[in-house]
Amino acid sequence: MSSAVTKMAIVSEQHLSESPFLLSTMPAGRPEFYLAGSAILALIIALIVAAPYAREPLEGSSLLLPAYAAAVLVAELITAALLLALFSVQRSLAILILASGYLCSALLVVPWVLTFPGVFAPTGLLQSGLQSTATIAAVRRIEFPLLVVVYAFLNRPARDVYLDRFGSREMIFGTILALIVLAIAITLISLELSDALPTFMSDSRHVAETWDYVPALALFLQILAIMLLFTGRRSVLDIWLMVVICTVIVEVLLLSYLSAGRLSVGWWAGRLCGLASASVVLVVLLSETARLYGRLLRSHLAERRIREAQLVGMEALAASIAHEVNQPLASMVTNAAAGLRWIEREGGDLKQTKAALKRIVDDGHRAGMIIEATRSMFRKGARDRRRVSLNDIVLNALERARLDLRSGRISVRTELDRHLPSVTCNAMQMQQVVFNLIANAVDGMARTPESERVLTITSSFSHPGDALVRIGDTGSGIALTDKERIFEPFFTTKPNGMGMGLMFCRSVIEGHGGRLWATDNQPRGAVFHFTLPANDEDPSTMEQPS
Ligand code: ADP
Repeated sequence: MSSAVTKMAIVSEQHLSESPFLLSTMPAGRPEFYLAGSAILALIIALIVAAPYAREPLEGSSLLLPAYAAAVLVAELITAALLLALFSVQRSLAILILASGYLCSALLVVPWVLTFPGVFAPTGLLQSGLQSTATIAAVRRIEFPLLVVVYAFLNRPARDVYLDRFGSREMIFGTILALIVLAIAITLISLELSDALPTFMSDSRHVAETWDYVPALALFLQILAIMLLFTGRRSVLDIWLMVVICTVIVEVLLLSYLSAGRLSVGWWAGRLCGLASASVVLVVLLSETARLYGRLLRSHLAERRIREAQLVGMEALAASIAHEVNQPLASMVTNAAAGLRWIEREGGDLKQTKAALKRIVDDGHRAGMIIEATRSMFRKGARDRRRVSLNDIVLNALERARLDLRSGRISVRTELDRHLPSVTCNAMQMQQVVFNLIANAVDGMARTPESERVLTITSSFSHPGDALVRIGDTGSGIALTDKERIFEPFFTTKPNGMGMGLMFCRSVIEGHGGRLWATDNQPRGAVFHFTLPANDEDPSTMEQPS
């Protein structure tokens, strides 16, 4: 590397040297190798098929040359543009050099076709001499593999050069300008200094001996390029550049060694290979860019979904804690107010005040336990599970809801199976689940005539090996369309509801391997059912829920 280049370039740690989203760094997989191998095989077959006819002349075919040149120009210009776009992201000097190879080749194809004898004028346009077209062709033939060699030499993990210090736009415009000046200079030299040019052509159709150096040097550079590409990074781009170079080799063989001079079958076959080589990287760049774009989009969407889920999870946790703690807090306020009233009474009723204060302490402990239980629900693996009686859990929850049930004038019926096997669960969480379901039933029966307000709780053993609890009410019931939505976070039909209770209940039940669902009650109201896997052991070894 020249010292000027070393000064210009800095090898940055932050560049995208190994990004899996760039063609120039994405390692080629098996499919790319197979596809590239098939393309090279097809080339060899095409060469074998074309070889016997290579010397046949194709008179009048010069008319097709402008179309051929236009196709090569467009393909190489677009490829150069895509490679420059890649450079603007990656800032790799190697990519800039490769883009320059394509751009230079595209720019030179214009004077090449204009000066070609017999295309636009018998001796070519621009007052060209016999050697003008061949000189331009020689530069094109050498320039491209030479720049691929430089690309392959630079494009190695240890040797990467990144032009991070300069604005990519300035570098791209500078490169384009320099190449346009170079192409004009080469054209002017080939037109104006025709006497000083090497004698590449003996007549307008046949090459002279001096020309032999051109394909020989081109072949040497092409083989060197393939070797460097093969021993280098072997990215997707490298693999397809190898195919391009193979195509160019076949082109050189056909044009310079098998054909009988310009406009013969071999010459045209070589030209077609030239067109193919101009398009290979273009097609790969386009298809891979579309594929990578899709991959990026998918990974971006997946990332967004994860972020949203995390956000909902956080909100759900916060709202769930708020929801569950609300009840003991409300109870603490009620008991504190009651305590104050007992004290303010004449003579003060210390016994009742003490009882109210005790209830406040209990509620405080309960709030703390609820927060701990909610946290542990979201913290996998840290659940405090014990073998307990589900009937005891139901009775404890009923006891907690006693005041609400009494003030709501709700009669309670329980049918608890005395032989129900134990369940292994977090007793605190499970009690909160039953309590939530009872509280919802109480709310649901607010508009039911007092005489018809009935809460029915049953427990039984259901198949296969599950304990089943049903909590039925005679309330407003649940609309058919809301049967599943009620379990979603934030779904509520209550003016002061949070819509977190049932989500919490379902998470807890499912976290214990059970199911929770709702059905209609007869003749009115709703029934919530939940199952939990039952243990099959001696009920006397069970622990009491707190
Ligand atoms: P919240 O009680 O804060 O609204 P929940 O998640 O506990 O949140 O309940 C969600 C919704 O499900 C309630 O707003 C209500 O519409 C409905 N729901 C729950 N239980 C019952 C019930 N027993 N009867 C009628 N509707 C109910």
